[in-house]
Amino acid sequence: MVLDDLGSSLRGTLDKLRGKSRISEEDVDEVVKEIQRSLLQADVDTSLVMELSDDISSRALDEEPPGGTTARDHVLRIVYEELVDLVGESTELPLEEQTILLAGLQGSGKTTTAAKMAWWFSKKGLRPAVIQTDTFRPGAYDQAKQMADSAEVSFYGDPDESDPVAIARDGLEATSDAEVHIVDTAGRHALEDDLIDEIEDIEDAVDPDRRLLVLDAAIGQGAKEQAQRFDDAIGIDGVVITKLDGTAKGGGALTAVNETESTIAFLGSGETVKDIERFEPSGFISRLLGMGDLKQLTERVERAMEETDEEEEDWDPEDMLQGEFTLKDMRHQMKALDRMGPLGQVMDMIPGMGGNIMDQLPDDAMDVTQERMRTFETIMDSMTEGELENPRSIGQSRTERIARGSGTSEDDIRELLQQYRTMSQALKQFQGMGDSDMQRMMKQMEG
Ligand code: GDP
Repeated sequence: MVLDDLGSSLRGTLDKLRGKSRISEEDVDEVVKEIQRSLLQADVDTSLVMELSDDISSRALDEEPPGGTTARDHVLRIVYEELVDLVGESTELPLEEQTILLAGLQGSGKTTTAAKMAWWFSKKGLRPAVIQTDTFRPGAYDQAKQMADSAEVSFYGDPDESDPVAIARDGLEATSDAEVHIVDTAGRHALEDDLIDEIEDIEDAVDPDRRLLVLDAAIGQGAKEQAQRFDDAIGIDGVVITKLDGTAKGGGALTAVNETESTIAFLGSGETVKDIERFEPSGFISRLLGMGDLKQLTERVERAMEETDEEEEDWDPEDMLQGEFTLKDMRHQMKALDRMGPLGQVMDMIPGMGGNIMDQLPDDAMDVTQERMRTFETIMDSMTEGELENPRSIGQSRTERIARGSGTSEDDIRELLQQYRTMSQALKQFQGMGDSDMQRMMKQMEG
């Protein structure tokens, strides 16, 4: 997703600061260069990148890290704060009567977004209507109607009327029983003056409460000019970034948000009306920095635990936290994690874990690939209850027997036992953490 690379490369660079309590100019330079490289690669506007990196370097050098903070945490906090500051809170959209005008280039995803937003408002319990004023693009009416139908929301358009302003006015009247009006406008291939004139006229007639600019995530450096022109014409209150399911990094959105001094309202990630989510700054930046999104994690954990619990009702996470970690616990964890995705990625989503405990573990401690997991599961299926409960009892002769029984090699067994020991040690660290994130998370899993 957006700026995916930034997290991993930035964390790599920040890792070099681990253990240092003071930060040198050179250290800061290196971190800042890494941030610049990643942001430029993600298509963030060059001057914005320079501005951001200047702010980060001067703060990192000028500000005294609070007592007990490592150099790494100090820089990370500054980077986080500057990025959060840049994207800001999500665009305010009160759940009450309002009219929203959508602007953007042709193909940016306006028509799709109009229906998606209407669907989103309807799920919030409001009655939305989509008004399609695009008289320019053949097929716009049919497409908009079809999407509004699939979102099961009211729709107004008039394929026989050529004046978009008249359609907007008639549409507001015809759908006056709706609470949220979403007015879609025509886009053109480039920013032509008549498009700007037209949208100004529609804006006058509609008098919207919100003016949102719809941007394709792939827009890149072009975002700046577009955002400026639309902002000058109608004033932009918020940005919707579409097509985040594609390969584009979405850096243009940061530029647009900065240029229009606006915020991000929604993210679009697919072609159906349900592929929309409300923008959420902390999650967005956490993901950006590879530091994770607890909300998303908790949901995934809960889902995986629900499924696993159906299979293994006698497994109690409390035992694992308090007592001895056994191979049974490990098998249970693996099954749950298998459903959530790669273990490292999951750990990254826990605030404080990605940049904290995980760093203290050897690189491969959590690197259990799907294939290795399968082999480990096969091996554990061949073990006795006693061996699962007390893996330390597995000596050479049992290793040979288990390898034969499971059709794997003795090295596989040793690897499994090594993995077990590593996880067991990691867990001991968690156990020693008191009322830590991990324990709280485990409690949530239980509940
Ligand atoms: P408009 O010209 O701005 O109204 O753009 P449309 O809504 O017609 O979208 C242009 C194309 O992009 C259509 O084929 C949409 O299905 C597609 N599209 C819009 N939003 C998304 C999205 O979030 N993800 C993907 N994959 N496709 C999208």
